[in-house]
Amino acid sequence: MVYDNYEKILGKIAEISGLEKEELERKVEAKRAKLSGLISKEGAAQIIAAELGISFDNEKLKIDELLLGMRKVNVIGKVLDISPVRTFTTKNGVEGKVVNLIIADETSNIKIVLWDINHIELIEKGEIINGKTVEIANGSMRNNEIHLGSFSELKLSKEVLENVKTEKVVKEKNILDFKIGDALGVRAFIVQAFEPRFFNVCSECKKKVTPEGEDFVCQEHGKIIPEKRALINIVLDDGTESIRSVLFHESLPDLGITELENPERLINQREDLLGKEMIFSGDVRVNKFFNNPEFIINNVKNVDINDLIGKLEEK
Ligand SMILES: [Zn+2]
Repeated sequence: MVYDNYEKILGKIAEISGLEKEELERKVEAKRAKLSGLISKEGAAQIIAAELGISFDNEKLKIDELLLGMRKVNVIGKVLDISPVRTFTTKNGVEGKVVNLIIADETSNIKIVLWDINHIELIEKGEIINGKTVEIANGSMRNNEIHLGSFSELKLSKEVLENVKTEKVVKEKNILDFKIGDALGVRAFIVQAFEPRFFNVCSECKKKVTPEGEDFVCQEHGKIIPEKRALINIVLDDGTESIRSVLFHESLPDLGITELENPERLINQREDLLGKEMIFSGDVRVNKFFNNPEFIINNVKNVDINDLIGKLEEK
């Protein structure tokens, strides 16, 4: 699925400013040239908007018009999914709760992260359930999610949304254009595959645990029998650029890695990966150790030839 966020945002700026799209486009290119291409087209358009005195604050936007870094996001969507309420304790010993929702409108869907006890109470009381439409005000965009704190608003809406987009929306981009925080898909070749690394997780909460003497202890669940997990680092290249990427346990079979317990067969499976072209989707994050961008892959698919032909015909 490809959609062009940039075109939409440009249209919105044109609508509010009364300037021609072509002129805005020239401004965007000039801004990008000035910043040596370090900024995406969307990002440059946001700066142009700010320079023109246009604020998207408190504008009701469609989900696919939301951009990274936006503050005071107002949006309406139908609740598709609600995660269980999780509790955590901060470093200062304060108890906190967090819940994720997925909401959708007719353009796209997005994850909403609730941190405020009053908002979470609406879920706990069963007032906000799947299928209800909610109104969000004053949220802020973080990593392609809308985060709601105590200054944000969350309430049920009277609006009825039909034909909401329920399938996961993945933007496609060239690796050269990857930016931190992007959630996207790319068709690329595997050019390097490192040895899988193993670690242990709590069988209850799936959080990483490390051995303490003979035992494995989860902070929340005490002494547990650990589950062994694996991850693999690969390098992807789509012809524009390459990026170090990581794939976790659940996605390994889709990649073709199934023989985790058999070192010899594992080597063969790893070698088979080299040169393989697949479709990867995930998030671009900063690797804290190397301090460079890393692609966290959460889905791998084989290239569907019919799909490709369809796309070529569209052009
Ligand atoms: Zn646990």
